[in-house]
Amino acid sequence: MLLTIALDGPVGAGKSSVADGVAQKLGILHLDTGAMYRAFAWKALQKGVALEDEAALEALTATDLPEVRYENGEQRTYLGDEDVTGLIRTGEVSAAASAISKWAAVRRRMVAAQREIAAQADMLIDGRDIGTVVLPDADVKIYLTASASERARRRCLELEGRGTPKPYDDVLREINERDAQDMNRASAPLRCADDAVRLDTSSLDFDASRKVLLAIIREKLQ
Ligand code: C5P
Repeated sequence: MLLTIALDGPVGAGKSSVADGVAQKLGILHLDTGAMYRAFAWKALQKGVALEDEAALEALTATDLPEVRYENGEQRTYLGDEDVTGLIRTGEVSAAASAISKWAAVRRRMVAAQREIAAQADMLIDGRDIGTVVLPDADVKIYLTASASERARRRCLELEGRGTPKPYDDVLREINERDAQDMNRASAPLRCADDAVRLDTSSLDFDASRKVLLAIIREKLQ
């Protein structure tokens, strides 16, 4: 039996920052499902497909579904032969990913692709609906969260570090908008699975979050 660890939570809770380290420590792969939604949204933007047109987006899933490959244990996200891993981290793509992810037709294809990937190796999978929809029988489910103000503070530091600073109020507004979009959509809204461990990282730095997460997983797997 393959090992599956589901890690869900809102934007900025620290999932992507801790997931790689935790997966490495456990000696398993990490699948960032957000990168798949981002890559698909990037393609829709490139092709000029309207983000509100579910039928056109469904048609796009037939030709341009992103593919995940592992290179030296690290996820790379492809569209055809193009490695888009470095192209999908912009604010424009974040907003577009959130917009296209509300469509059931898009989610169906993504969920199927994610289940296929998870069936190939032991994995830690992060996203919004992993414990609730993609892998309801995951061995361990964790819901990572933090206050919106703390998530905005972290995001500001990250943007500053990248040399693209943004005012705190703008960042907080965007986080609240994305939360509202992700939590209120009709199809697979973001929520904590009933059987998930809920971990609030508001008062924990990344190192501490990683340690607590590892401790929770190890205890669950005993
Ligand atoms: O995790 P990340 O911020 O990269 O995800 C981008 C967007 O993709 C999220 O705001 C969310 O709308 C969507 N998403 C999703 N389901 C997932 C992963 C991401 O709806 N499993």
